[in-house]
Amino acid sequence: MAGILDSFKLDGKTAIVTGCGRGLGQGMSIALAEAGADIFGVGYRADANETKTRVEETGRRFEYMQADLASIEPVPAIFERAIARFGHVDILVNNAGIIKRNDSTDLTEQEWDEVMNVNLKSVFFMCQAAAKHFMARKSGGKIINIASMLSFQGGIRVPSYTASKGGIKSLTMLLANEWARYGINANSIAPGYMATDNTALLRADAGRNAAILERIPAARWGEPCDLAGAVVFLASRASDYVNGFTIAVDGGWLGR
Ligand code: NAP
Repeated sequence: MAGILDSFKLDGKTAIVTGCGRGLGQGMSIALAEAGADIFGVGYRADANETKTRVEETGRRFEYMQADLASIEPVPAIFERAIARFGHVDILVNNAGIIKRNDSTDLTEQEWDEVMNVNLKSVFFMCQAAAKHFMARKSGGKIINIASMLSFQGGIRVPSYTASKGGIKSLTMLLANEWARYGINANSIAPGYMATDNTALLRADAGRNAAILERIPAARWGEPCDLAGAVVFLASRASDYVNGFTIAVDGGWLGR
């Protein structure tokens, strides 16, 4: 019988990672590759060269596709190209996400729709495409959605973001209820306050930065590499009986 550490290995697996070019998506792409997976990375504006280099340094393969996930139109092509390149998909990480800050009295329809389309609508249809592929292959598979502290808390001045990330946590439970019997694990990771472009404005504001740091029990911002353990666990056989759960990787934020 294989040992426990072997159950974390991803050799021979293919992972689609959206938003692979920078931030948390880059960190998770590298972690999955270190565990043995080939990476089919999706990005929109960032150039994915650094991610490609870092993945290939692990000895794994990397293929990139540019796609605007503000629309679900590219979803079939993402799976067709990933399957054409690597033969199959085993892991889907829905990481691409955006945030719009505005008072709830002022938030525009466009600010609502943009965030909901990228953060929730495209995520659902990526999950649907992955599940159809996993079911057709009778292979099972792993779906990992990126949630947020605002899947648990209200936040302030980010109404569409909070709605989308609350939706991610609930949707992940629904997908697990429907698909766990097919060997498909749908789970989410809720990062805490992580040092990426997404939080650059918060970190640049000395007052907000100090207030956030004061409240994080670990007393530091998270780094993309802090998600490595959680994403590899949820992508691997080690999590085969974990379904519909949202794991916080937050330096203790939610416990305060
Ligand atoms: P980031 O540095 O701002 O990166 C966002 C990623 O999303 C980029 O790779 C970007 O790709 C991709 N993306 C945005 N719009 C897209 C579109 N229309 N089509 C395709 N890809 C698109 O953010 P991050 O901090 O790494 O965040 C990654 C995920 O974690 C998001 O879902 C975010 O909500 C979540 N999260 C972050 C934190 C945090 O503290 N940083 C906390 C909780 C949750 P391009 O650059 O190629 O356009």
